[in-house]
Amino acid sequence: MPRPLCATIHLDSMQHNLARARSCAPQAKVWAVVKANAYGHGLERGMKGFATADGLALIETENALRLRELGWIKPILLLEGIFDASDVPLLAEHNINSTVHCVEQIKMLEYTQLYRPIDVHLKMNTGMNRLGFKPGEYAAAYKRLRAIPGIRNITLMTHFANADELEHPRLAIADQVQRFQRGAEGLEGERSLSNSGGVLHQAVLHAELQNDWVRPGIMLYGGTPGGRTAQDFGLRPTMTLTSEIIAIQQLVAGDTVGYGSRFEATGPMQVGVVACGYADGYPRHAPHGTPVIVDGVRTSVIGRVSMDMMTVDLTPVRNARVGSQVTLWGDGLPIDEVAAAAGTIGYELMCALAPRVRVTEG
Ligand code: PLP
Repeated sequence: MPRPLCATIHLDSMQHNLARARSCAPQAKVWAVVKANAYGHGLERGMKGFATADGLALIETENALRLRELGWIKPILLLEGIFDASDVPLLAEHNINSTVHCVEQIKMLEYTQLYRPIDVHLKMNTGMNRLGFKPGEYAAAYKRLRAIPGIRNITLMTHFANADELEHPRLAIADQVQRFQRGAEGLEGERSLSNSGGVLHQAVLHAELQNDWVRPGIMLYGGTPGGRTAQDFGLRPTMTLTSEIIAIQQLVAGDTVGYGSRFEATGPMQVGVVACGYADGYPRHAPHGTPVIVDGVRTSVIGRVSMDMMTVDLTPVRNARVGSQVTLWGDGLPIDEVAAAAGTIGYELMCALAPRVRVTEG
């Protein structure tokens, strides 16, 4: 029997969430973001779950090539572009759309003879200060790209730092949109601005967000970038992590649990040991009180999460036994809630799912 820890990927929920993205941005084409192994769901499952997306966006050229091998024939976008000039011919050969965010990447394109046309996304840095040309440098970068024989479509793009908050005090989404519009004024090409935050909030935002392409990631996996809950947005969890109770300890007052003896019983109680630890991707820093579900009853983590196991309070669970079902996140327990209790975000939990965790579809 395999260890009773399993991540179930809900392909139907992935389809549902994609449909939600489309209904939020009905005019836009959708790049489904499948970077980081489709946010921990597996690249091939990302491809299946988002089969009706208009394109898939990720980071590594090798994974773009894998998508082609797996039979994906629609557009592919490299969100950070290429890292070396030797990748340029691959873009052309496999029809991969590359982000261009710096002069070095323009030079790679200039120095390579293109035998087939390629499409690129030219990235503007509108305040995130991670990748992209400043608004004042953008038109010059655009012209330089335009002058390269073989460059076909140039999509104008930027990325939002705070799309999950309507009124961020330092950098509001509206500021970034305004900078983008100024920097892109008069330039021909489709536009791509919104991540999940932009997609989910765009009904109440600037019409500029209703543009040619959107690039949702976390919402497609049933998580929220912040603000309201995924349920509020009508999103469904796409990954449910389940395990079982593999041992039960009876404690008396003064007994402690686990490494560091951080939990001390104040009276008689039952503790369940769950087959899941930080080596599986469960956050080690999840404190006492982080929610879990045992046999359909909500309870919480106690003691320190260790490498392969964690301990939970069985007080509210009647008739708990070895073999009782445990849900760590997903169906019935939003991953964002677990993440918030552990001081992180749903993105990190999904992406950190360890390769040793068995994955099924269902
Ligand atoms: N677009 C770009 C350029 C990104 O880097 C990301 C992810 O960080 C996304 C879109 C998707 O973001 P989210 O998962 O918040 O929707």
